[in-house]
Parts: sequence; C-alpha cells; structure tokens
Amino acid sequence: MPAEDPRPDFDPHWPVCTEEGCRGAQSEWERRCLVHAEDLAGLRPGGDLDLRGAAVDSAKLVEIVYRFRDHENRAFMFGELRCDHAWFSGRASFTGGEVRGVARFSDVHFGHLASFDGMAFASVLSFRGARFPGRAYLGPLAAGDVDLAETWFANRVSLDIEAEHVELVDAQFDGGLLLETTGEVDANGTYFGAASTIHGAKVASLSGSDVSNLVLTDADLSNCYFLGAHRLEQLRIDGRTTFARPRSRWRARRRMLADEGKEPPARVGATYRALRKSLEDSKNEAGAGDFYYGEMECRRHSKESSLAERMILWCYWLLSGYGQRALRALAWLVVVVSVVTGLLTVWGQDFGMAARIAVGAVVFRDDRTELTAAGEWTVLVARFLGPVLLALAVLAIRARVKR
Ligand SMILES: [Zn+2]
Repeated sequence: MPAEDPRPDFDPHWPVCTEEGCRGAQSEWERRCLVHAEDLAGLRPGGDLDLRGAAVDSAKLVEIVYRFRDHENRAFMFGELRCDHAWFSGRASFTGGEVRGVARFSDVHFGHLASFDGMAFASVLSFRGARFPGRAYLGPLAAGDVDLAETWFANRVSLDIEAEHVELVDAQFDGGLLLETTGEVDANGTYFGAASTIHGAKVASLSGSDVSNLVLTDADLSNCYFLGAHRLEQLRIDGRTTFARPRSRWRARRRMLADEGKEPPARVGATYRALRKSLEDSKNEAGAGDFYYGEMECRRHSKESSLAERMILWCYWLLSGYGQRALRALAWLVVVVSVVTGLLTVWGQDFGMAARIAVGAVVFRDDRTELTAAGEWTVLVARFLGPVLLALAVLAIRARVKR
C-alpha cells in the first residue's frame, strides 16, 4: 500500500479476513477478503461484490471488477455492491455498468479518482459519510435514491443524477458543487465552500445551510423549507422558479414560502425579508413584490408586533394589499363614492348632484354646493379617504409596472 490507511477506527461487523491487519470481509469461498483471496473464480457477472472494510489499490480493483464484465452486453453487471468502510487507495472506477441491487459505499475513503460515469443503479446508491479527497466523476448516472449525506468532496464536483431523491444533508463541498437533477434534493446543513449551482431540482430544504455561494436555477421551491438557512439574502434564484401558492382561492394569488403558516410568523417574516433582498438583487421584481406581501402578512399575524402596528397593517392590507394590489384600492374608491352618493341622496340631494359631489370630493375638487351639516361631514371624510386610496392604487400600479 502506498499511503497510510486514512480510515478512522471502525468495528467490522462481518467475518474478517485472516490476513494480518486486514479488516476486509471474507469472501464466500475463502476465509480471506477479495484482495487477499487466492483466486477470484467465484466472481461472475451479475453476482454480488463485497469489499467491505478492504483496502484496495487500483490494479487489484481493476482485476476484481473485470470479473463482472458481461461480454455479451459489453457492460459490467453487478447484483449488490457492498463496499462500506473500504479504502480505494488509487483509482476507483465503476463506469458503464448496471447494479441490480443496493449499492453501498458508506464511509468509503476514495483515492485520487472516483468515477461512476454511466452507471445505472436500480435501487439505492449510498455514499453516506464517504470521503473524496481527489477528483470525483459522479454521473451522468441513474439511481432510485442517491445518499450523499455527510460526504466530503475536497474538489469541485459535477453531479448529473437521475434519481427520485438526492440527499445532501450535512455534505461538504469545499470546491463547490454543480448538481443537475430533476429529483428532490435535501440540502439541510449542506456546506457550499465555493460557487455552487443546483439546477432543475425540487429543493426540499436549505435549512441550516449557508447559501451565500449558491445559485438555484429552474428550481421547484414549492415545498422548500428555508427557515434557519444562513445568508439567504445572498442566495441567487434564476430561471423559471416555482414557489408555493396559497391553497384557499379567497386569498390573494402570490408566490409564497412553504414555511408560512407552519412556523412562527416573526421568523418566517425575517426569511421573506432576506429572500426579497435576494430577488431584488436578481431583478425579479414580481417575486420581490410577492415576498414583500408575505413579509407584511407575517408581521400582521405576528404576536411580536404591537397592537397599533397590527391595526395599521390590517388597514394597509384591507385597503390595498400592502400597496401591491391596485384593484383592491380602486374597488374601495368605488365603494367610497357609492356610499357618499347614497348618504347625500338620503340627506336631500338629488342623485345626479350627489354623485358629482362624491366624485369631486375624492379627487379634491371643491364643489360649492350648499350641503347639510351631515353632508359636509360626509364630504370631508371622502376628501380624506379618496386621495389616500388613489395614492395606494397608483403605488400598486407602479409596483406592478416595475415588473
Ligand atoms: Zn484481506
């Protein structure tokens, strides 16, 4: 072996090779592991490969893997791959083949190269806790689920993975990550040490991750859990990204966070504020407007907001959807004009004149018609409400046009 065994101590829970100091699993036909076995005749295409705990160099691995080559299909065929706690001291190349069972590389230490290009895994592919100090080529590959939790990649890595679920929980990408997948990605507590991109994924969580180096493109964030993510305001969201939508059709249509309604409003509000900043920076004004709406909703519902603040926000929401909904403000304007017209009619004006005074009042035009005292008060209130509503409507239209 060229280098010193980098693996921390571990308890082999398998019958151990009789070779002095070896912790590899015994083969089925000898009391030695595949590295120390006298012959490899027991290995054949489609069979299981057990390298648990073994220390395997490049040459030995090639010799072992070659036994699984199906010459008719010109591909490597494996049943189950059990390689937990193995140490591949040189190149570890599993390319262009098929694995019909589970493939486990948990806590494996790879050498200067790990390659899994063009592999198809019918079931789970687990690298949980594996360490990649060299270059890693993971994909394009297909698998049921890919578990990269607690892995460590020293260098930048590109993952092109077709899978239902890709687990990145507590994984560490020192040189950055480029991940392409349409599957679900859980990036809870993931470390992105350099510029990283996740493309096309349904992101389930970014909680506990520092996302300042991360770009999400064409992502589905409708079920993404953001709470507890660090430096969210530096997250970049590009391309066609989808967010959650309110379920009830009586609520305003907008992009929202899946956290809203499930977590304390004050914390969700802070998350909205950080993400709004990120959307503004990437010139996504529509998204930013919706997240402003979300932030205000959270403040309106938060018990940490004072009563006065909540009352003001309640009015702001009711009258104009926090300055984001022009139609709502205009509808209120129509209501004010109608009510003032109605009241003036009740207090003796004829309908045409009443309507003219009402419209005039909301746009500040002084109509010198003699009114009763009640009429004067009504017009006074209308003169206050009218311009406020008009201003809110203009603001909302401006917010929309900016998009
Ligand atoms: Zn051995």
